[in-house]
Amino acid sequence: MKKYNLSKNITTVMLAWAMLIMPLAAFGQTRISMPKNKYKVQDDVRIGREASAQVQQQMPILNDSETTRYVQDVGRRLVDAIPSQFQQPGFQYNFSVVNARDINAFALPGGPMYVNRGMIEAARTEGEMAGVMAHELAHVALRHGTAQATQQSKPLNQLGTIGLILGGAILGGQQGAQLGALGAQAIVTKYSREYETQADILGAQIMATAGYDPRDLANMFRTIEQQSGGQRAPQWLSSHPNPGNRYNNINREAQLLGISRNATQDTREFQRIQSKLSRMSRAQSMEEIARNQQNGRGGYGQGQNPMANGRYSSRVQLPSSRMRVFSSGNFIQMNVPDNWQEFPTQDSVWFAPQGAYGNQGITHGAMIGMVQSRSNNLQQATEDYVNGLMQGENNYLRQAANYSRTTLGGRNAYATTLSGRSPLTNRNEVVNVITTQLRNGNLFYVVAVAPENEASNYNYAFRNMLRSIRLGD
Ligand SMILES: [Zn+2]
Repeated sequence: MKKYNLSKNITTVMLAWAMLIMPLAAFGQTRISMPKNKYKVQDDVRIGREASAQVQQQMPILNDSETTRYVQDVGRRLVDAIPSQFQQPGFQYNFSVVNARDINAFALPGGPMYVNRGMIEAARTEGEMAGVMAHELAHVALRHGTAQATQQSKPLNQLGTIGLILGGAILGGQQGAQLGALGAQAIVTKYSREYETQADILGAQIMATAGYDPRDLANMFRTIEQQSGGQRAPQWLSSHPNPGNRYNNINREAQLLGISRNATQDTREFQRIQSKLSRMSRAQSMEEIARNQQNGRGGYGQGQNPMANGRYSSRVQLPSSRMRVFSSGNFIQMNVPDNWQEFPTQDSVWFAPQGAYGNQGITHGAMIGMVQSRSNNLQQATEDYVNGLMQGENNYLRQAANYSRTTLGGRNAYATTLSGRSPLTNRNEVVNVITTQLRNGNLFYVVAVAPENEASNYNYAFRNMLRSIRLGD
């Protein structure tokens, strides 16, 4: 089974200039118009889900239910305060905490939001933390990710293949560049000044409706600025450039909105969560996370093969009967033989024992991953995938069995078998492919590989793997 990589285009989203905001004092607040957008609301949802699955896979999500619940509560309160004309019934807002020390937060089209632990620790009050979240929510509600794509000079009809438009740029600046792959192949993009102004104004309005003091959004920008330098360099500011007079503009909007005397500025709960976080072991910076992944068992960089250091051997250890649990965020959990190493690449994870992997792929082991599919029909999507698999490096493989129906992770699935003489082992190779659909319509696949004359030794391991798969998308 040779290495098989889908190439994906990374498209830099260009921004155009448009005035979208006009003050209308008569309404007591600035009126905002939805920017022009040629994409369907469902496109936002789909792109966001795909990106989110990759973020879950590649970023350390803080595993603390109390903190997560707290951030979710603040998030829901803000979501409820989004003005009705910007509510999208198809959007699913949800909130996760990334266990990274950088001061950052990002929201993906359609609703998934990630707040770094460093951002929560940097905020002085709940109101300041909520300010960042309200600003991010405003980008999502106004569909700025796809609106930006709409303004691109090239027609972007290949939305399905560009990978992602990460609304609000996950990773700004230098670290962002290093983490190109980590951030779900982040298209590191800055919003235009207009969109920034819109997000500031709508963010302030959401704050006020939710019962926060909108001036805390302005205060948070100052708080973040003060923390510049060092390892917690505020990436957030580079992906949300100051449109000019940001602080004053937000405060002016706050005056228009009127500030309630009862507005929430801080809560005991926020202080408790903050002190809980400060007692946890130090979070890594995004740079450290990326470096560890590069040096560790799997490199994520484009064009890099994490298995390149391996040497093929004619004697490969049998799969251990002891299984260990492999999991990737909430996205997937499954058993793999104890003696198989794992090699994550951009869109797949390979598993193989010593002697069975190298720069050309694997001779014994398995691979899981997902691909974007053109078709919503599982059989069609499976055929597309399998036909793609048998081209290029793997053109020695032929389909050896018809498609059959099965289940994977409790979902309908298709299975087929390929075989052919492997140029790596010079022996006949059997490749079992099992596919199912993810909720976002993408195809999830498991590919199991072994030489034909050893296949019986792998049945137990493969069956165990397949039976144990849990998908959390
Ligand atoms: Zn912004």
